[in-house]
Amino acid sequence: MFRAILELVITILVALVARAVLGSVVKGFGNAAAAARQAHPQQQQQQQTEAKPTGELHKDPVCGTYVAESTAFQRRASGKTFYYCSDACRSKHAIAS
Ligand SMILES: [Zn+2]
Repeated sequence: MFRAILELVITILVALVARAVLGSVVKGFGNAAAAARQAHPQQQQQQQTEAKPTGELHKDPVCGTYVAESTAFQRRASGKTFYYCSDACRSKHAIAS
């Protein structure tokens, strides 16, 4: 009876140690993969360039920043569409005009 309990405890301990070792090994692989990704910064830059929104650039009439046509901060006034870098610039321009 005592032997059975001892074997059970040993089994649990072995399982816990195995899990801890496996966990650290998986973590180590993850770090290695991250390091490998960092080793190719040029590839990352290319992907970022491709992800940029396309479309015409319009000048923010408030702060002068050029913003893409796809921006969410737009306002139509007297037949013209204005493009803003932020909601703050849009409200400022709306109050000024
Ligand atoms: Zn602005």
